[in-house]
Amino acid sequence: MSGTTDDRNDPGLRDIGPDGMQDKYLVLSEEERAKGFVRPVRRSYRHLICGGVTTMGQAIAETYARDPGFYGATYCATCRGHYPVGKDGEFVWLAPYDSKVGT
Ligand SMILES: [Zn+2]
Repeated sequence: MSGTTDDRNDPGLRDIGPDGMQDKYLVLSEEERAKGFVRPVRRSYRHLICGGVTTMGQAIAETYARDPGFYGATYCATCRGHYPVGKDGEFVWLAPYDSKVGT
């Protein structure tokens, strides 16, 4: 399991482990997340390319809920790599949401 940081200069953001995950993922600070969510906090998404489901940590899920456009890409545990999110991205939230991750 990777860690998280709200420091954009944390070297862990550039370290990639053998499973293809970053050592750390950038998140909004607790203070920023506490300002309120504009989307539900969702933990699991499906990669449309392989059909695999990935579940993320709470701080990342809350960052998506606070700022849906915060990330340009996300991790797929099946493909072991990072792929685009957003309107034209490759991921959807699991039912009952079924909307694109990052929108
Ligand atoms: Zn995949």
